[in-house]
Formats: sequence, C-alpha cells, structure tokens
Amino acid sequence: METPTVIDGAAVVTMDRDRRELATGHVVAQGNKIVAVGEGPAPRYDGARVIDGRGCLVTPGFVNTHQHLYQWVTRGLAADATLFDWLTTLYPVWAGIDEDAVRVGAQAALARLARTGCTTAADHHYLFPREGGDLLGAEILAAQEVGLRFHPSRGSMDLSQKDGGLPPDSVVEDRDEILIATEAAIDRWHDPSPDSMLRLVIAPCSPFSVTDGLMREAAELARRKGVRMHTHLAETVDEGNWCQQTFGCTPLEYAADLGWTGTDVWFAHGIHFDDAEIKQLGQTGTGVAHCPSSNARLGAGIARVADLRAAGSPVGLGVDGAASNEAGSLVEEIRHALLFARARGGPQALDVRAALELATLDGARILGRENEIGSLEVGKLADLAVWRLDTLPHAGITDPVAALVLATPPPLDLLLVNGRPVVHQDTLVTLDEPTLATQVATTQQSLLTKAG
Ligand SMILES: [Zn+2]
Repeated sequence: METPTVIDGAAVVTMDRDRRELATGHVVAQGNKIVAVGEGPAPRYDGARVIDGRGCLVTPGFVNTHQHLYQWVTRGLAADATLFDWLTTLYPVWAGIDEDAVRVGAQAALARLARTGCTTAADHHYLFPREGGDLLGAEILAAQEVGLRFHPSRGSMDLSQKDGGLPPDSVVEDRDEILIATEAAIDRWHDPSPDSMLRLVIAPCSPFSVTDGLMREAAELARRKGVRMHTHLAETVDEGNWCQQTFGCTPLEYAADLGWTGTDVWFAHGIHFDDAEIKQLGQTGTGVAHCPSSNARLGAGIARVADLRAAGSPVGLGVDGAASNEAGSLVEEIRHALLFARARGGPQALDVRAALELATLDGARILGRENEIGSLEVGKLADLAVWRLDTLPHAGITDPVAALVLATPPPLDLLLVNGRPVVHQDTLVTLDEPTLATQVATTQQSLLTKAG
C-alpha cells in the first residue's frame, strides 16, 4: 500500500453535490485517490504522512481551461496594444520558437500554474513553424516534469495574410498536413482512461487564422476520435466585424454552421455574444473559458459570466497565454472573474462560492472530467490545494472561501496532483525555479534577437 497523506485540522470546501463545507475537518489521499473527507480529526492511518492543516483551507485543485504555454518566453511585448496589433507584433517573434523554447516556456508557465493552485492544465498550442521540431512533445515532457494533469491541444493555423487571414505565411501550415499530424498526435498520446494524466484536444486557432474547411474537418476528426474541441471565439469587436465582412455572420453563427457547438466544445473568451447566442450556448452545453485578466490587458471587453451560467453554459477560467497575462496566476483569475462580473452586472452577479466553482467543478465539466476531479469526494482523484490563511494578509477573515477569493493570493502550503506533492510550503518541489528563471530570460532574449 502506498503511504497515505493525511491533512488534519483544516477548513475544507468540498464542492461536492451538497456543497459541504467543514470548519475543522480532514482529507486523506492514498495512491492517486481521495480515501476520506470528513468533519473532525482524521481516522488513524499507520505510517501516514501527516500535514498539520490548522490555519489552512483545503480546496479541490484548480482547472485551467485556456493557456498558450510557449508565450511565457515572449512576455511584456506590445504592452499597450489591441488584440490584432498585439498579434501582428508577436507573430514574427513566435515564428522562431523551437523545442527548447517551448519546453522552457511550458515549464515556467506550468510551474506558475502549480504555484497558484492549478492541478489540471489545458493548453492551446497552434503554432508549428516548419523548422521547430516536436513542439507538442516538448510541452508534454514539460508537463510530466512539473507534474500536472495535462490536456494539450494539437492546434493549427492555415489562413495566412495572402489568403485574407491575419498571421504571416511563416507561421501557418497546410490543411492536410495539419489533419494528419493531429490524428497522429492523438494516436500517440491521448489516454482516455479515468485516471488519465494526458488527454489531447483538437484546437484550430481562430476564425481569422483558420479556413472554414479546416474547422469543419477538425470537428469531424475530433468526433471520430472521441476528443474535445476548442478554439478562440468572440474575443473582440474587431473579430466580430471581420466575420461580418468575410462571412456575413457572427462568430458563433460561423462556428455553429461548421459543427462547433455541443458538450464536447468550449470557446476561449466568448465575450461578444448576444442574448440569443447565450441561450444557444446553454441549450447545446457549449462551454466558455473565461480569461478576465487577458481580456482586460487587451481591452477586449468582459464575458457575460452570470448570463452564461444562468443559461446552462459551463464557464471555466483561463489565465490565457502569458504574453497577454504576464501574471499567469490561476488563483488571481478567480478574484478577477468575481470583480469584473460585479463591475458589469452589480454586486449579486457572482458570489464568492460561484467564483470558486468556475475554477473547480465547472473547469472539470469543460474538460469532461467532472466525475474524476473538481471536488473533494471519496473515490475522486487526489488533486487538491492547501492554502495558508493565518498570516497577515488573511488573518481574521472568518469565512475561508471569502479569504481565498477576495484577498491577495495566499501562501500555498501543499499541492497534490494525482496524490503526489508538486508544491510544498510555497515552493515547487519538482523543478528548480531560480534555474528556470535564468533559462526563461535567455530564451526570450534569443527569440527577440532571431526576430530582429
Ligand atoms: Zn488565447
């Protein structure tokens, strides 16, 4: 038997069906599963690793539903630009990425996610320069090194400037090559088993960088292979205007016509939807990855989170790529989601517990894993975070959920992923952060030099 980890004397927010919250309780993990959750002291487990949880809150591990890991090595550029200007500044820099750059960027971005409570990360990688090497393999290796549960995408772009798209020729691929590479990636890596640490996603980039033919064929491939589908949609007013001029319809009308709605689909951003479209998303069970920090950084607007939730559309959180959210901190997205929802819809628009639900259960639903992760229940996977709430920034706040969501990000005492410690006492235990910081700086400098 594997050594159990016993967390004792902590407040626990389970996010289970009854939304049970324990003022003083315990959580026990053994192997990769949760084996006990309850009030009061934990039962005795011989030889257990015991964590003193007094002063702490245990939550389910957070799920990140939208990110571009490689962007960690292209941060701080086009600092005051709109999405389209930001993209056209960054495409030439991104054209230089290779296996080494992607591995370092992914290690750093995933390390930051882990340090901010994330146990399951989805990534949207859509950029495969011809000389880049095995970029998907590089980020999968990085996720294994950091130790997170991982849902990477074989993304794509096949619509360049010469065909009316936004990206330059140097960063797009041929449609047939994309579909062959995508199917090969699924066959090589996708693990559909219930405890899976690695599931693939099919993710063409966006309406203005992908042809309608690729969108349609990508959807057919995803459904034939039983994997989920993801793309950027309705992020900016510019994108809406581009769709009207190019296709004579809204981004959602365009996507829906190509087979891109359903419980196996989630869109990044989903800001500019009207009432009828929100109803359609709810009725079809199509999800949205809400990225409040990135949306504010690029001045894109803010998603109608309360309306989407009311309509029945699952809304998860995403830090988005670090080139448009330099913080890359998942726990901060919870607070930003709450603040922006209330700035938009008033003080009742999103309560603190609903905000936590975005990062946990709803994120799990979006990835199709609500039966395995997203709540602390016996039999579920041992993905959890232990937050320290008894230091100056949080001391005295009697509701631990309010402390976590409304105050500054707390110290992370422990992060377990699949039962294994990835963060302990606010330190990543799997990789050396100072070494990684040096590699990030060197990699970003060489990419900028390459781009001239
Ligand atoms: Zn994005």
